[in-house]
Amino acid sequence: ASRSALPVFNGTGSTSDGHRVPLLANVGSGKDARAAAEAGAEGIGLLRTEFCFLGRDSEPSLEEQVAAYGAVFEAFPGRKVVIRTLDAGADKPLPFLTDASEPNPALGVRGFRTDRTSPGVLARQLEAIAVASGAHEADVWVMAPMVSTAEEAADFAVLCTAAGLGMPGVMIEVPAAAIMAEAVLSRVRFASLGTNDLTQYTMAADRQLGSLATLNDPWQPAVLQLISATVAGAARATAALPAETGSATAAAQSKTVGVCGEAAADPALAVVLTGIGVNTLSMTPRALSSVGAVLASVSLEQAQELAARALAAHTAAEARTIVRSRLPILEQLG
Ligand code: PEP
Ligand code: MG
Repeated sequence: ASRSALPVFNGTGSTSDGHRVPLLANVGSGKDARAAAEAGAEGIGLLRTEFCFLGRDSEPSLEEQVAAYGAVFEAFPGRKVVIRTLDAGADKPLPFLTDASEPNPALGVRGFRTDRTSPGVLARQLEAIAVASGAHEADVWVMAPMVSTAEEAADFAVLCTAAGLGMPGVMIEVPAAAIMAEAVLSRVRFASLGTNDLTQYTMAADRQLGSLATLNDPWQPAVLQLISATVAGAARATAALPAETGSATAAAQSKTVGVCGEAAADPALAVVLTGIGVNTLSMTPRALSSVGAVLASVSLEQAQELAARALAAHTAAEARTIVRSRLPILEQLG
């Protein structure tokens, strides 16, 4: 078959039978966001806010932050924009928040944990997000990175409420949070799986070490099991919500689980994630068309069957081979 036979991503992610999986973009700036909009992204699934402030040695002012976030909202008027609060530390050091002399930075004070050591920075960031979203008509969701416990999720929700932000969520990138997903999600509105860190922490393999790439592989069945546990926990947290009268209200309250790690940019893995029950996929904009095409080549039931096979595999190689061999469209993508 020729390349032109491929279904082109038309800006609406779904399986062949119309099961919707919005395809969102990972960005680090307003410029990235404009490029993502051109590539057909349905919204932003991850704004890495620390990238707006790399190389700074002091906290950006409220005005600077409002401008940086506003530029992203401007690229997606009325669309979903998921902003991640500062994820400083480990592979993303920020001198005004993190301590470069920590012996083990990946296990140190990073992400949401910096709110304990430098109180106020996060609250001011949330204020800036609220001001910027008020100035644009934005569907703004806000999530905290490196959350490990239900208490941390609850603390973040309190900070969001204080800032007037109504869609608090957490990243699930620590195995503890995946295992405790039901409790974590009972405190917030949504979760987004950060598979880069989730893989690193599950496999105890530094994500920056090329020599550990075989371990650092999101196809590892242990990682897939934790993703599946997170989706199951979210479903239980949704089921535990008080019954609503209107079904539209109930749907709006349900706990959604996205993926925003690199795993979502692998078309075969995107199919598996969809089959596991993930609600949205966020990726580098250049992956949107291939992920969209492969997703559109399978029905939800086929995706579920492939997910079951991947979850039953004993090794990452086995999972990848089984799934890829059943997706003939991959050959056309080259
Ligand atoms: C992740 O950990 O998967 C993620 C999306 O966040 P980052 O890569 O910025 O740590
Ligand atoms: Mg991460």
